[in-house]
Amino acid sequence: MSDSKYVYSFGGGTAEGRTDMKNLLGGKGANLAEMANLGIPVPAGFTITTEVCTYYYEHDQTYPAQLEADVMAALKKVEEIMGTRFGDAENPLLVSVRSGARSSMPGMMETVLNVGLCSKTIPGLIAKTGNGRFVYDAYRRLIMMYSDVVMEKAAGIEPAEGQGIRQQLDRMLSEVKKSKGYASDADLSEDDLKVLVERFKKRVHEVLGTEFPDDAVEQLWGGIGAVFGSWNGRRAVSYRRIEGIPDEWGTAVNVQSMVFGNMGDTSATGVAFTRNPATGDNRFYGEWLPNAQGEDVVAGIRTPNPLNEDTKNDQNEHLPSLQTAMADVYTQLAGIRDRLEQHYADMQDIEFTIQEGRLWMLQTRVGKRTGTAALNMAMDMLAEKMIDGRAAVLRVKPSQLDELLHPVVDPAAEKTTKALAKGLPAGPGGASGQVVFNADDAVAWTKAGKTVILVREETNPEDVEGMRAAVGILTGRGGMTSHAALVARGWGKCCIVGAGALDIDVVAKTIKVDGQQINEGDILTLNGTRGLVYAGELPMIDATENPRFVDFMKLADDIRVMKVRTNADSPDDARTAIEFGAEGIGLFRTEHMFYGIGSEQPLFILRKMIMSGSEAERRAALDELFPFVKKDIKATLEVMSGRPVTIRLLDPPLHEFVPNRSEERARLAKALGIDLDELNRRADDLHEANPMMGHRGVRLGVTFPEITEMQIRAILESAAELTKEGKKVLPEIMVPVVGMKAELDNQLKIAKKVYDEVCKAQGVDAVEHLYGTMIEIPRAALTAGEIAKTAQFFSFGTNDLTQMTFGFSRDDIGGFMPDYLDRKVIPADPFQILDRDSVGELVKLGIERGRATRPGLKVGICGEHGGEPSSVEFCHMVGMDYVSCSPFRVPIARLAAAHAQINHPRG
Ligand code: ADP
Ligand code: MG
Ligand code: MG
Repeated sequence: MSDSKYVYSFGGGTAEGRTDMKNLLGGKGANLAEMANLGIPVPAGFTITTEVCTYYYEHDQTYPAQLEADVMAALKKVEEIMGTRFGDAENPLLVSVRSGARSSMPGMMETVLNVGLCSKTIPGLIAKTGNGRFVYDAYRRLIMMYSDVVMEKAAGIEPAEGQGIRQQLDRMLSEVKKSKGYASDADLSEDDLKVLVERFKKRVHEVLGTEFPDDAVEQLWGGIGAVFGSWNGRRAVSYRRIEGIPDEWGTAVNVQSMVFGNMGDTSATGVAFTRNPATGDNRFYGEWLPNAQGEDVVAGIRTPNPLNEDTKNDQNEHLPSLQTAMADVYTQLAGIRDRLEQHYADMQDIEFTIQEGRLWMLQTRVGKRTGTAALNMAMDMLAEKMIDGRAAVLRVKPSQLDELLHPVVDPAAEKTTKALAKGLPAGPGGASGQVVFNADDAVAWTKAGKTVILVREETNPEDVEGMRAAVGILTGRGGMTSHAALVARGWGKCCIVGAGALDIDVVAKTIKVDGQQINEGDILTLNGTRGLVYAGELPMIDATENPRFVDFMKLADDIRVMKVRTNADSPDDARTAIEFGAEGIGLFRTEHMFYGIGSEQPLFILRKMIMSGSEAERRAALDELFPFVKKDIKATLEVMSGRPVTIRLLDPPLHEFVPNRSEERARLAKALGIDLDELNRRADDLHEANPMMGHRGVRLGVTFPEITEMQIRAILESAAELTKEGKKVLPEIMVPVVGMKAELDNQLKIAKKVYDEVCKAQGVDAVEHLYGTMIEIPRAALTAGEIAKTAQFFSFGTNDLTQMTFGFSRDDIGGFMPDYLDRKVIPADPFQILDRDSVGELVKLGIERGRATRPGLKVGICGEHGGEPSSVEFCHMVGMDYVSCSPFRVPIARLAAAHAQINHPRG
């Protein structure tokens, strides 16, 4: 039973783990091991594997039997390397107990520092370091973290808002500082701290009902249990859901000997990025705090000092940089930066601590970055030959393109508006919204359809749900490397931190600045790229196309094998889509002209046609309608100049167009020469109980062949005329809502008749075009082999196919889908992400059967899934020729198709 290895050691220049063991050791543990192997100074420690976490949850929160002995053996190794002993009275070792999942979840789980301090070890550590202030500072931190993480959170105690033990202790700390007139934690004296820790322990006992543990080993196991427990903490669960990280993965636990950044002025702690994570600039970027421990920087409590001259900004320029304050250490750190970047061939996010002038590395991981930074870094590293073209393409996530093309505050408006305040540009782009002051309100207001900016005093990972819901985040304190800033950046969310001029009161729900007051519900605009906050709503513009983006997309286009088309219904849409790189139109909806601007006249004629009582009446109306239909089709074919244009015949149920207003009905009756009663009677006749499955699509064409006739004539005439003008065109006639080959044959007969007439009238021998169908009914997918005898192409309409496969009405999922997602009845909304198990199977089968009949059958998708990265990957894997999506998603689909080809190569 004990053949599993549950504990991996690192330190002293070697390690049992490696960076590619992330699944087992978590990202943090794997990379600590890797750094140790590279000979980079890492405090010794060991990693308890994610398998133990899985075991823990599968066995009623208990550990494998061998774990205790394994941990104690690993601890012994650490003691040997460090020359200290855990729990020893003379020469005590202190450790941190750190969480670390496979994929990084910054600040979402727990870490406890200074474990092992107790009445037995305190005097020894004071004697050894000669620094009582430091020891009591470390002890008060241990009490604060341990009582919060182990004694409260892990014990499942849920205090009232603001009454958490950590907040209570924080307030006690602030009171002491205030009464003594201290500006920072670093001003607290040894005596202050000594008094404080006694009061802390008393408060912990009062509030939580248990004594603060005064035994090193008890603290260690308490910490380990709490870290495993934090995998299922609220924050971690929310973050996993948002990021799509599986619950089964589990976290590892890292136990690592402490190094101290709080031993005085030659000690410090910091966080850095090997390149700027907001812009991508190839400059070492970071923040540090003298005489402090790591969590002071990452928790966003203080505005930290700049790492170097490159990192200075309005908030920190008066503070000394590490480059000037500790030049030698800085040089060593810069050297490690270069090594890590070369080794990992990617931007790293690192944590370090300096203990009495000596540098220690505590973490490295691939850094989160904005879309802009991702693009710039990929292209820079390609130019530096650090990575190749394929790696560069993989460096930008398709979803990040969304952000690259996202709106920014109109610079013209910014010129004429005075900013309320300036903070640090932590997350990119622009955002306007109503101010709310806590995460719950952000979620509730957003659910109610409002657009909100979440304003907080400091960034805090507890707010993760609210941060997600808000369009922008604004804080008064905190630095660029704080966890919350990191998370916002990873999501490409507009975020400004450390806007110190704002006096934010989250209890009173006010912001005071410059004699003005902003209340809950007032509107603010954030420029997250520059860190500027404005009162009121400023206009936004699209981010301008930059040449790097064009180069990057060219790399992607060279790799992908699947074409990308767009869904466009007008010549204007078509033009936009071509700019975004569309290679054709996958869905042109004829009914588009009956909605929106300029639709009045064609819509009236359409209504006449619908309300016709006889074929003759209907034909007269269709003749009137013809020039409108033809005009749009012809102009669009012309814009697309030879690229394929799939034109779908009329799809929606007719009753959708029946007017409800009585004046409109009267006007219509008059135009048709019938009385209102007759019109109302005809309207009632059109009523359907379930129109989505009613008289629509091809069914209209079968019952009213003249409607099909008119549309096909418009298409073929346009094509013939343009060809005669020397222009290239390629129309594809697509019949919707087909379930049977016979339906398609029925319509083909009409198409053939019209074709002959058009050729004759236009005096041409042929009009190049294709005749095909949408596959959106399960029966069509199942009988695709038959249907392909007639259809020259298939276009999967996965919106309807999803509706009919799940039996979910797309318009009514609001009633249950949120619960389904919450309760994990379904992993994702199938209307957003194509469900590979069901709809995907139908698509696969449809393609196989279709191509068995007609090898080389052209196949695409025109549902909304065509612009969603995971669905695009699926379309690639099942051998589609193209995907089609809305114009703005075309770049996303192009990149997703390139990723798909790299990850699943296809000939
Ligand atoms: P997170 O994943 O939330 O960043 P970490 O485990 O990295 O949590 O720890 C939080 C902070 O404590 C970091 O700044 C880290 O560098 C610091 N820290 C962790 N372990 C040690 C240690 N052994 N010595 C000194 N600082 C530490
Ligand atoms: Mg960390
Ligand atoms: Mg449909």
